[in-house]
Amino acid sequence: MKRELIYTILDLEEWNQEATCRFCRGLNKAVCQIRTRSKVTHSIIENDYACESCKEKFESNELPKCERCGRLKTKSNIDFSSGEYICDCIKDNEDLEEKELPALPQEERQSTFYERQINGLREELATTEEELQIEREEVANFHEKSKEWNKKQKQELLDRIKKLEAEIEQLKKLTSQELGAKLAAYEAENERLKTQLEQLTSQQITQIEAPPKNGSIKNFFKFGLK
Ligand SMILES: [Zn+2]
Ligand SMILES: [Zn+2]
Repeated sequence: MKRELIYTILDLEEWNQEATCRFCRGLNKAVCQIRTRSKVTHSIIENDYACESCKEKFESNELPKCERCGRLKTKSNIDFSSGEYICDCIKDNEDLEEKELPALPQEERQSTFYERQINGLREELATTEEELQIEREEVANFHEKSKEWNKKQKQELLDRIKKLEAEIEQLKKLTSQELGAKLAAYEAENERLKTQLEQLTSQQITQIEAPPKNGSIKNFFKFGLK
């Protein structure tokens, strides 16, 4: 079975506060260490120091790793003359098959135990952040939709107002006789609508009391319509 690695971001140890980053150029102050362990045997493979920006890169999975063994590529492994990265796994001719027996639970040392906890918490944090992001997007979507709906409602109202205003203008031009006729027509229409409404209301009551049987539903709805 090929060796699997676990990486854990840890705070700098007290005696390593002055450490510099092992990943980028220059002497950038390290802010954390990244410990690499074998997943099965728990043995430490590497313990590298990283500056703030390299830590962020590591967290977003942008810090390059050796394609062969999975070690993080440190600058000390870049060959001076060729500029090529030569990993310890090549230098030491490492066998990448996991031959050692897995560590038993009671053999797990406290440091490994805490590293596992740290990794678990980090994963939880990442999931929560992801969920939060989805929720934020949903809220933004909702706002966008209600904005659109509002806009539509507003436009409909504006259209109606325009229509009514045009109608008023028309009415103003009428003679008093024409106006009287129009008014009578409106009143008649109003009466008709009121009667319809009353019929509908009493029908609803009847419907609740005695729902129509199959077949009679058509007749039932015809009632009250013009
Ligand atoms: Zn760095
Ligand atoms: Zn390697």
